Amino acid sequence: MSKVDSHLIDVYDEVVRRNPGEREFHQAVREVLESLAPVVAKHPEYTEASIIERMCEPERQIIFRVPWVDDDGNVRVNRGFRVEFNSALGPYKGGLRFHPSVYLGIVKFLGFEQIFKNALTGLPIGGGKGGSDFNPRGRSDGEIMRFCQSFMSELHRHIGEYTDVPAGDIGVGLREVGFLFGQYKRLTNRYESGVLTGKGLGWGGSLVRTEATGYGTVFFADEMLKTKNQSFEGKKVVVSGSGNVAIYAIDKVHELGGTVIACSDSAGYVVDENGLDLDLVKEIKEVRRDRIKDYLQTHKSASYVSGGSIWDVECDIALPCATQNEIDEDQAVSLVKNGCSLVAEGANMPSTPEAIKIFQDADLLYGPGKAVNAGGVATSALEMQQNASRDSWSFEYTEERLQQIMRDIHKRCIKTADQYGSPGNYVVGANIGGFTQVAEAMLAFGVI
Ligand code: GLU
Repeated sequence: MSKVDSHLIDVYDEVVRRNPGEREFHQAVREVLESLAPVVAKHPEYTEASIIERMCEPERQIIFRVPWVDDDGNVRVNRGFRVEFNSALGPYKGGLRFHPSVYLGIVKFLGFEQIFKNALTGLPIGGGKGGSDFNPRGRSDGEIMRFCQSFMSELHRHIGEYTDVPAGDIGVGLREVGFLFGQYKRLTNRYESGVLTGKGLGWGGSLVRTEATGYGTVFFADEMLKTKNQSFEGKKVVVSGSGNVAIYAIDKVHELGGTVIACSDSAGYVVDENGLDLDLVKEIKEVRRDRIKDYLQTHKSASYVSGGSIWDVECDIALPCATQNEIDEDQAVSLVKNGCSLVAEGANMPSTPEAIKIFQDADLLYGPGKAVNAGGVATSALEMQQNASRDSWSFEYTEERLQQIMRDIHKRCIKTADQYGSPGNYVVGANIGGFTQVAEAMLAFGVI
């Protein structure tokens, strides 16, 4: 085994030892380290300065109690997290996730991914992530508000326009960002717009931020298709999930001439061979906050499968936009067998390492989340730019900026993969592309 390989294995073993039981974090670290051998071999100064070891250890981890009162007057307690992972390129930047599965290992995996994703955007943002094991499902607006206020009562002392800028993720959308921003403003007595992104349009938000992750995913996938002289025109597409990312991915696929025939929620999936009725999906998920199964009440010819795997549905293009590890080895095999030729990840780490291997062996186009879904956080950085200059840009201009950023990320992945001897490998391109930018900044700063 080469010296470089054994160094990378040592770093990984140390991460596992130091973060026991944090399975998703180990997985995310491993996936990046597995790409780094050629870059470490070329740059001994990274090893001498322990850049990778430092990158795998968050700069700061905050864990706090979030007490709140439910509608029946019971006092409830949840746990809040903010992992400020790396600030070499700018203030920590990354969303907040409210979901019962959230624990430190999930927040760390997301924060770690965010470092490289944010670097790839080319914008001045570091990496961080936060959230809570709070389950918003079935909670009233009043309960959500009280929870968000309590969460911010602690979080406010750790964040700021130049320090750490949270946004949304699963379970945190416009409503939650509103409650969080209101409480921040009240506690600090400062109208500091740049402290949170994903804000409403009337109070410092940016046009296109709502659509950005989904649109960016499809822009990136479109660039991938262009490398094979193809387009979305006439393609059958499956999008998992039915939240913010999925909804706007579906929207853009339809605009580019593809047909999305299936989407899902955590209870099951719906198939509509005529193409999904997106207004209805939006009404069910965003207004009624109900189950996707309700789609059948309006479209009787559609079908619904409770549980099961959406990846059994035959398609040309798969856009996983739900959550981590939603495609395992068997599901990857089923996609490949059914003729799927492109997988682009709108969610963070939706494919297991075994699934990724299947995709790469099958020679299908595979785009990893940290490149593909970077449009969300990139548009958050554009929101920060608008806040800093007290300006607001038009929809057309902002969308153009987003599309250009996605094209540039794609170009950078291709170029880096070529440069490091893995042409067409977007995993290598994204990991090394993001890594070198952060590593160079860390080297410049000395040992901090
Ligand atoms: N949660 C999103 C992500 O996974 C967006 C983060 C942000 O806008 O800061 O990248």
